[in-house]
Amino acid sequence: MNKPERKGRQMGKVEDTQENFKICMDGNCSTCPSYPKKSDEGLFCARGASKAHIEKKGCNCPECPVWMDNGLSGMYYCVKQSKE
Ligand code: SF4
Ligand code: SF4
Repeated sequence: MNKPERKGRQMGKVEDTQENFKICMDGNCSTCPSYPKKSDEGLFCARGASKAHIEKKGCNCPECPVWMDNGLSGMYYCVKQSKE
């Protein structure tokens, strides 16, 4: 059965791929003031929150191609229990 793709507002389901990770680390999470330094984490929108304690100092997600391409609307995916 083929379900038609839902358009418009949808829950972001970002794929955990090396390509998406690269985009995330190419000036998106990697240059974010909130990004946990000394970590090799990233792609939080797909992999879930960071293990580190994050201080919210801004979020680059809305400028990220992964964010746009997946129709995401949230921010601070690195922060636990943060959906907004
Ligand atoms: S999820 Fe947002 S706040 Fe967290 S490191 Fe990435 S860009 Fe920054
Ligand atoms: S939307 Fe945010 S967490 Fe996801 S890849 Fe982009 S910058 Fe990283």
